[in-house]
Amino acid sequence: MNKLILFDIDKTLVTSSKAHHKAFSEAFLKVYGVDTTIDIINSHGMTEQQIIIEVLKKNGLDEQTIKSKLQECMKVMIDSFNKNIDNDEIIMLDGVKELLEELKNNVLMGLVTGNLEPIARGKLKKVGINHYFKVGGFGEDDINRTNLVKIAIKRAEENFDFTCNNNVFLIGDAPQDMKAEREAGVETIGVTTGIYSKEQLEDAGADFVVESLKDKNKILEILLK
Ligand SMILES: [Mg+2]
Repeated sequence: MNKLILFDIDKTLVTSSKAHHKAFSEAFLKVYGVDTTIDIINSHGMTEQQIIIEVLKKNGLDEQTIKSKLQECMKVMIDSFNKNIDNDEIIMLDGVKELLEELKNNVLMGLVTGNLEPIARGKLKKVGINHYFKVGGFGEDDINRTNLVKIAIKRAEENFDFTCNNNVFLIGDAPQDMKAEREAGVETIGVTTGIYSKEQLEDAGADFVVESLKDKNKILEILLK
């Protein structure tokens, strides 16, 4: 495989997950004794560790206290998610399956998401597309999204016949996705299926922007050029 295509998950491949949203609230209450939700911040494009820290800071907790229980918080989140995922309604966005089918024999595909890996994989299993993604950088790997990109690339090099050399792309819906990719030195395709516009994604450094993954021909033209 001479190309690696990395995908963000939320609002790029699938819609939001109620089980994921609830997992944060359950963990905040169980681990920190704080009754709150992630709705008090704009969590789009943030990693899980960033979200936990920001929400709890807004509730008056200091960073040291938050960080001392971060691992426990993430563990409780995974337990909560696994408990609720069967009743969750996650919808795959239009064009996703067709694009993945088209790419699967030509490139190596992976994930870069702020989600914890069991949550990320759980969402994708639910809509039947988890098997396409062979590597990834996930929320438990690092707090910083740029590092998640680097980790995903490293895993691709270690586990597959892949060498990084101007041949990595990332597709995502948030300015943070674009910024992280630029910092990690990969090309970016922004998709406007989240809350951000073409202009906002371009301002953040997107090399290309498409309306949705239904824009298969344009995406293939960029990726397989
Ligand atoms: Mg996203």
